[in-house]
Amino acid sequence: MEFNDDVGLDASQVQDTRGVGGRVALGGGGLGIVGVIIYFVLSQLGGVPAGAPLSTDAVGRGQAVSNTDLAAECRTGKDANTKSDCALVAIINSIQGYWADEFARSGSTYRPAPTNFFSGGVNTACGSATSDVGPFYCPGDQEVYVDLTFFKELQTRFGAQGGTFAEAYVLAHEYGHHVQNLLGTSDKVRPGTGPTSDGVRLELQADCYAGVWANHATTTPAPGSNKPLIKSISQDDVNRALDVAARIGDDFIQKNLGSGRVDESQFSHGTSAQREKWFTAGINSGDPAVCDTFGTRTLG
Ligand SMILES: [Zn+2]
Repeated sequence: MEFNDDVGLDASQVQDTRGVGGRVALGGGGLGIVGVIIYFVLSQLGGVPAGAPLSTDAVGRGQAVSNTDLAAECRTGKDANTKSDCALVAIINSIQGYWADEFARSGSTYRPAPTNFFSGGVNTACGSATSDVGPFYCPGDQEVYVDLTFFKELQTRFGAQGGTFAEAYVLAHEYGHHVQNLLGTSDKVRPGTGPTSDGVRLELQADCYAGVWANHATTTPAPGSNKPLIKSISQDDVNRALDVAARIGDDFIQKNLGSGRVDESQFSHGTSAQREKWFTAGINSGDPAVCDTFGTRTLG
């Protein structure tokens, strides 16, 4: 993917707490991949109590967030074309710009959600988390959290091809959860796992919403501009996003990073094929209405 060189970025949408540094003591040396899934489900279902005990050595909310480096480093699309951090800022600007427009078109108001870049561990309204949980959205504070080392892990551990647009898919999925929270969808989700569980439907809808944004990415104007930040997305980019979608499917993870056996009763995010299907439905249509994973009998 390519960004328009002369379009301005809004780095204030990202809170960079890397280097403020701390580990979160969760015990047992991290949650691991099963923990990732459990954490996602818990956090999305509000099962992690707000105000859960937070370890003292973690990065606290509101603690010494310094954005000055990022703001100085990431000024325009040109920076996004040359620096990976700035590319993520541009992507977050684009995702939120699209949803702000989409909410306005339907007569409602989008509430911006910052993304936190953290390293090691972080405290949130959903409890404390280490990097092991992967990127997540916390409904309690309406913020996205990502340790950027996850994107490397996608390649080294999950075997993904990676690339900027693959990372964009991950971020757009998390913002999909924010949209679900704003629309009240997340509140209606009943706890539980399984191939047709509400949790799986919620996750596949977030994939679909990610695709919807991708459809509009090259036409969504940058903040305070009438020109889009994203200049082009290639078929190779889309293929790389689909490659990631396939590698974070429940069946792929269970087979390759878990017990080696597929147990549908534990599905929380949908199969690889389903994740690809719903991202594709979003990107092909550009219409959030096609993302009705709760109304369909055929999840894929
Ligand atoms: Zn998710």
